[in-house]
Amino acid sequence: MLDNDISKVVQADRAHVWHHLFQHRALDSKDPRVIVEGNGLKVWDQNGREFLDAVSGGVWTVNVGYGRENIADAVRDQLVRMNYFAGAAGSIPGAIFAEKLIEKMPGMSRVYYTNSGSEANEKAFKMVRQIAHKRYGGKKHKILFRERDYHGTTIGTLSAGGQPERVAQYGPLAPGFVEVPHCLEYRAQWDDADYGRRAADAIEEVILREGPETVGALCLEPITAGGGVITPPEGYWPRVQEICRKYDVLLHIDEVVCGVGRTGTWFGYQHYGIEPDFVTMAKGVASGYAAIACCVTTEAVFDLFRSDAEDPMDHFRDISTFGGCTAGPAAAIVNMEIIEQENLLENCTQMGARMMAHLEAMKIRHPIVGDVRGKGLFLGAELVSDRATKAPLDEKLVARVVAECDARGVILGMTNRSLPGLNNTICLSPALTVTAEEIDQIAEVLDQALAVVGGLAAETAA
Ligand code: PMP
Repeated sequence: MLDNDISKVVQADRAHVWHHLFQHRALDSKDPRVIVEGNGLKVWDQNGREFLDAVSGGVWTVNVGYGRENIADAVRDQLVRMNYFAGAAGSIPGAIFAEKLIEKMPGMSRVYYTNSGSEANEKAFKMVRQIAHKRYGGKKHKILFRERDYHGTTIGTLSAGGQPERVAQYGPLAPGFVEVPHCLEYRAQWDDADYGRRAADAIEEVILREGPETVGALCLEPITAGGGVITPPEGYWPRVQEICRKYDVLLHIDEVVCGVGRTGTWFGYQHYGIEPDFVTMAKGVASGYAAIACCVTTEAVFDLFRSDAEDPMDHFRDISTFGGCTAGPAAAIVNMEIIEQENLLENCTQMGARMMAHLEAMKIRHPIVGDVRGKGLFLGAELVSDRATKAPLDEKLVARVVAECDARGVILGMTNRSLPGLNNTICLSPALTVTAEEIDQIAEVLDQALAVVGGLAAETAA
């Protein structure tokens, strides 16, 4: 069915597809890339070129790797039995996956199905707003977000967007979203030995400035992804939790990237002993085999929508049309079973440590590597033109590192431009199935690319 004459496919793509995150002028001089097949960590393009995918489908998604027939079979079986029913009705895979998921999330209780990470975050925002209306006369409605974090592409989630360049041209934004400072110690904003605590205290300062009676929730990525692969400093999370409890601010953890194994635990927040009120997730939930995202919350939050309801029609007035599609949970069940049966959390931790050791070694060898960060198989290397001043490496040279790897058959990523001039972190996030040989291969190619670009950077500086 899909095996059309590939040149016609390329022609159709060039003529009619508007690619994501892409300046189409690049296609004036070359064909679009069409990925036609995948297996494990390998993908092939329309010309039969093979690549090792070190970013799990471009954006940290295909956690269990390509070509999983058992996921495809489960989705097929479910779709021919019952593909979809929307609204108040449940489904067999929806119920089973919710139960499996909650088993991995002590303290959490209810799963609200949606289609995308942005939408899952919007649901949490709407729940916070409705709680404000139910309980606080609409006053406790503000949602805090952190500089450099990203929560999605809708106007609501962009209003909670800490990456100015992704937001600037889409205003006016929604009111009631307030930024708190980032916590990246490498680019420290405070001179304090207890940096984690200090960075968290900055959140308290914002709450006090805004008035705690107006602040409903704090939304944070456990480890910031597109904003620079930022692992929060020691002491940050316990203090954040303390602040949220002190001011009755609901804690919303955005696990769209870190969720479902990416960092070596089921969820990123579980490294830090946090007890969130909302957890949102998307990418790795079904590893891209079907579109599924979830907004998960506690029984206490859920109960507010039940016990406060004097009017039986007073409920969470929200629906997601494709939240009723069964392909997502059917795929997610098998995805989770694969992670369990193949011990992929353990593999993630071990292979992540192996890659991190390579990155540490590259930091010694290549002066353009300023900092290396991350957890499990969610890693980044921040590139600089001058280690002493930490001046970010020119974005075109960072892109050149990615291009040099691509030319050598390894697909890498780079962070989105978070703060102007700081689009300078290389991202590595291979599937959790990655082997030691594949890690070494990725590292070897990255090492070569850094050598080439290090040379170019030195020439530019001279
Ligand atoms: N949150 C985070 C942390 C993300 O990285 C992303 C997407 N990259 C989103 C939310 C939005 O997810 P989606 O693209 O599925 O809407």
